[in-house]
Amino acid sequence: MLIKERYKAFVEYFSTHNPDAQTELNYGNPFELLIAVILSAQCTDKRINQVTPALFERYPDPESLAASSPDEVFTYIRSVSYPNNKAKHLVGMAQKLLSEFNGEIPEKVEDLVKLPGVGRKTANVISSVVFHNPAMAVDTHVFRVADRIGLTSRATTPLAAEKQLVKHLPKDTIAVAHHWLILHGRYICLARSPKCDICPISYFCKYFEKNKKAKAILKN
Ligand code: SF4
Repeated sequence: MLIKERYKAFVEYFSTHNPDAQTELNYGNPFELLIAVILSAQCTDKRINQVTPALFERYPDPESLAASSPDEVFTYIRSVSYPNNKAKHLVGMAQKLLSEFNGEIPEKVEDLVKLPGVGRKTANVISSVVFHNPAMAVDTHVFRVADRIGLTSRATTPLAAEKQLVKHLPKDTIAVAHHWLILHGRYICLARSPKCDICPISYFCKYFEKNKKAKAILKN
């Protein structure tokens, strides 16, 4: 299958079956989403959704979070991964939002990455979800699933995968394609044991095609 055909099949399938895919993080405004995405690094969305209600209630805006201390924030997020670092990042992020961005979440990726705790992946999530920009955030699921399907080829870094995906996807699907890949990776195309036998997109998946050929050779 040609790469063009693979992308076409990918967009057609998910546009039909999950056109409005969204993040599974709970949030009520861009500030809360930024907090949730910072916390979600190397942690599950489920866990983050357990701690954020109390956190958002205590820190409803950059002012209240900036005036707090990492020690106090820690008490709200102790059950997530790397709570010490993340507590420092959250307070630092709020302080920087106030000092450099007038308390507003910036739209540009190059501004977002100036905030403590915000790397390119987080910045792309905010840029696409909040501002509807055609930004592709590449996390571990996106990286793995795009490679298995064959949407990316020999990408050795998240940035390389991001560039390939952005190059080939229709512009108006880039933001939602991030969620398609994450959700598929979370529930079907699992890291250790992909559920290929029940996968609805195996008909255009490169990994599946390769395995089928390998099995056929072994049989003969
Ligand atoms: S067929 Fe298997 S490897 Fe391909 S996308 Fe589906 S679960 Fe992943």
